[in-house]
Amino acid sequence: MKYYSTNKQAPDATLEEAVVKGLAADKGLFMPREIKPLPSSFYDEIENLSFQEMAYRVADAFFGEDVPADTLKQIVYDTLSFDVPAVKVKENIYSLELFHGPTLAFKDVGGRFMARLLSYFIRKEGKQQVNVLVATSGDTGSAVANGFLGVKGIHVYVLYPKGKVSEIQEKQFTTLGQNITAIEVDGTFDDCQALVKNAFMDKELNAHMQLTSANSINVARFLPQAFYYFYAYAQLKKLGKADNLVVCVPSGNFGNITAGLFGKRMGLPVRRFIAANNRNDIFYQYLQTGEYRPRPSVATIANAMDVGDPSNFARILALYDNSHAAISAEISGATYTDAQIRETVKKTYVETGYLLDPHGACGYRALEEGLKPGETGVFLETAHPAKFLQTVEEIIGNKVAIPEKLQAFMKGTKQSVPMTKDFASFKAYLMEQ
Ligand SMILES: *Cc1c(COP(=O)(O)O)cnc(C)c1O
Repeated sequence: MKYYSTNKQAPDATLEEAVVKGLAADKGLFMPREIKPLPSSFYDEIENLSFQEMAYRVADAFFGEDVPADTLKQIVYDTLSFDVPAVKVKENIYSLELFHGPTLAFKDVGGRFMARLLSYFIRKEGKQQVNVLVATSGDTGSAVANGFLGVKGIHVYVLYPKGKVSEIQEKQFTTLGQNITAIEVDGTFDDCQALVKNAFMDKELNAHMQLTSANSINVARFLPQAFYYFYAYAQLKKLGKADNLVVCVPSGNFGNITAGLFGKRMGLPVRRFIAANNRNDIFYQYLQTGEYRPRPSVATIANAMDVGDPSNFARILALYDNSHAAISAEISGATYTDAQIRETVKKTYVETGYLLDPHGACGYRALEEGLKPGETGVFLETAHPAKFLQTVEEIIGNKVAIPEKLQAFMKGTKQSVPMTKDFASFKAYLMEQ
């Protein structure tokens, strides 16, 4: 499969180039040249397949030409070593719980898949060590670090803003050791991202070490997210609820929902999508006005969606040929303030007993407000509520049980390298490695 750049100023890339480089030379995002529909026989029997079996069929459509079948199967099966259940919250609304992986957020799927695919390419080419740089505002760092933990030939540097991630999130990437180094930057998330971008542009540094990015622009991170949309459909089909299915995705950088849109292109019978935003509602405004106006992000309690210029918007435009009408026909939007998010977490907890996290709350509310008669809704519950412990406990006025997996992280000892936000010092540090 060839991958083109959304900016159309760079030559097509192979899968390996797209995964190792992350971003095209013209700074565009890689898109597969083809999106192959799956045969109707696949959809006819989908509810009889295991999650791993159906995910392998989806993976094969994208990666089958470039990765041997047994290797690809192994990668898919290893990645999805946890369940993604669709849980009923109330009549016609289901939560697709994406938080049963090692770091309790959906980013585990893409992080684990990318780590394994990159490791395959390194073994195949007998490459030198590859160094993964990742800037995080919280969840990405832990999913990527845990996905790559112990993988031979790869070293991961996680850059995070000092004092700006929750204690639990910090522990998830500062206590691992081995091939994971946490870098605590005295600055903001934007400063971390700038350090990473500068590192990729620095000739001397790139001659010294092979660098790659693991942010959601990477095709190996975002495409595998399509897997669980198929599994959601299969679970609802089993219940006789899959006709007129509406999928609602709490969105920040729009990688997650874009993977769902790819699924629909492959024939997955989803009637329509809803993108739920917090106050950073650039996409919602685009749907209303037809104009895309990025703006600086504002901090909210659904912080993983605090994005002012969603990077995957370029992929959505490419998928729909830049047509606002075509995009609006398949995707609608919603936007919620912190007060509305709080109200939704509280009300849902009291009325149904289901505890939403602040991101999932946006998704649930958009379905409650937007479902039409005869439709069934499933929203993506993108992280476990205990990852936002203080916020959620404050809202419900009650203790939240912390899953064992999270408790295990909290027992570790933090180890990190202090860094200023000045590129020269970051570069000097990397040149010594
Ligand atoms: C990353 C993240 C999101 C946003 O996903 P995108 O793919 O960036 O749209 C939503 N919720 C949680 C909990 C996340 O970690």
